[in-house]
Amino acid sequence: MSDLTSKTIAELRDGFRGGDFKAREIAEAYNAAVASARMLNAFTVETPEDALAAADAADAARGSGDLGALAGIPLGIKDLFATEGVDTTAGSKILKGFKPRYESTVSGKLRKAGAGMLGKLNMDEFAMGSSNETSAYGPVISPWKRNDGGNAALTPGGSSGGSAAAVAAGLAPGVTGTDTGGSIRQPAAFTGICGIKPTYGRCSRWGIVSFASSLDQAGPMAKTVRDCAILLDVMSGFDPKDSTSLDLPVPQWEAGLSGDLKGKRVGIPKEYRIDGVPEDINALWDKGIEWLKDAGAEPVEISLPHTKYALPTYYIIAPAEASSNLARYDGVRYGLRETPDGGNLDAMYAATRAAGFGAEVKRRIMIGTYVLSAGFYDAYFTKAQRVRTLIKRDFVRAFQQCDLILTPTAPSAAFGLSEKMSDPLAMYLNDVFAVPASLAGLPAMSVPGGLDGQGLPLGLHIIGKELDEQGVLKAGLAIEERAGFTHRAERWW
Ligand code: GLN
Repeated sequence: MSDLTSKTIAELRDGFRGGDFKAREIAEAYNAAVASARMLNAFTVETPEDALAAADAADAARGSGDLGALAGIPLGIKDLFATEGVDTTAGSKILKGFKPRYESTVSGKLRKAGAGMLGKLNMDEFAMGSSNETSAYGPVISPWKRNDGGNAALTPGGSSGGSAAAVAAGLAPGVTGTDTGGSIRQPAAFTGICGIKPTYGRCSRWGIVSFASSLDQAGPMAKTVRDCAILLDVMSGFDPKDSTSLDLPVPQWEAGLSGDLKGKRVGIPKEYRIDGVPEDINALWDKGIEWLKDAGAEPVEISLPHTKYALPTYYIIAPAEASSNLARYDGVRYGLRETPDGGNLDAMYAATRAAGFGAEVKRRIMIGTYVLSAGFYDAYFTKAQRVRTLIKRDFVRAFQQCDLILTPTAPSAAFGLSEKMSDPLAMYLNDVFAVPASLAGLPAMSVPGGLDGQGLPLGLHIIGKELDEQGVLKAGLAIEERAGFTHRAERWW
């Protein structure tokens, strides 16, 4: 790993501005890192020329004093974001070869701030998954290995698995992710990096391939809390093209960052102490409480009584919305088209969707259409919406007693490839701690806290009040400053 690829975004930005190195050198270092790590399968498309062109523009602009916030910084973009003229597949065969004629609002904002693009990042198909194994372009391999001397390939988590692996392996200093039910936070935890899902509506969804529109939210993933703040400052903001976008000013989160939690109360939800969670994870949780105390916060026990209904609720609402969103892939408008001999229009729809969607996406479409069907709508979909309201109310009540909530990010460390693929329920259970904040639309972040007995990273999860990204980032920094997590995957690729 060259020196530049181990730096943080803040260090790259400051070094570039101070003249320590050129933006072109940064882009070249990352392009080389990407090209030398293809066995991780983190990227679906590499765009080295794009990174170089943005770097040259940054070098030319340096000195003029008119540099964008991300001038000189190359980024990876999850393949769920539409990128103008560059393949955007959402990890699906049905979008193979689709080159949008428009740029998503979020990736457009990053570009406008001067960032270059290293490439598009592999992901679970339509962001449905927790291990990146549902991608039509093959799984991503985590750069991390267990310390047992074995060579088992591990998952980087999902659905933003390519994003997480790219940062953890030094292939990009920062990336975009999306989080519908944990897809930024769980992969961040599995790979020893930071990731934040902001309040629903902070980042525009325009140009992001839809999975479950009432839950989907973009966010950054990077090595440090500060780097996440730097990226989130640029990614956020009102967009008239997204009707659920929040028309509110964007605070300057990086400028407001500190690790001081004096006077803050941190809620510890008793319902998150669940059976079967490894002792290392509970021990890290206890350490996290001590770290936040040390930063000035006071821990308080809270109750989120409907927590146990969050997963079943999510797995009704998300597939319901997905089944509707994915109806547009019909062989007419995008990518793949299968035309059976002598078939009519319906036959083309059926053949295209049968060939274009993978097993997990088909499973979700079937669940979604079932829970939305006339006979079952009230029993499943309406009920799930009601429970979602109860889950939101749990948080509203809890936040009368506390300012932030601390939990583990996931109930396990990274698992092996194919370990859970044959058991969808076991896979879904991995989202147990992440999903409630998604259903409530709250900002939440994962920060690496330590390694388990097998040498794998574990994350701590901070949930904040609506719009309190600043509080979440501050608690994240307080943990980061005390955890001293500087571990990196040892290079084998
Ligand atoms: N793993 C969850 C799912 O499969 C969450 C995915 C996500 O957040 N995009 O739906």
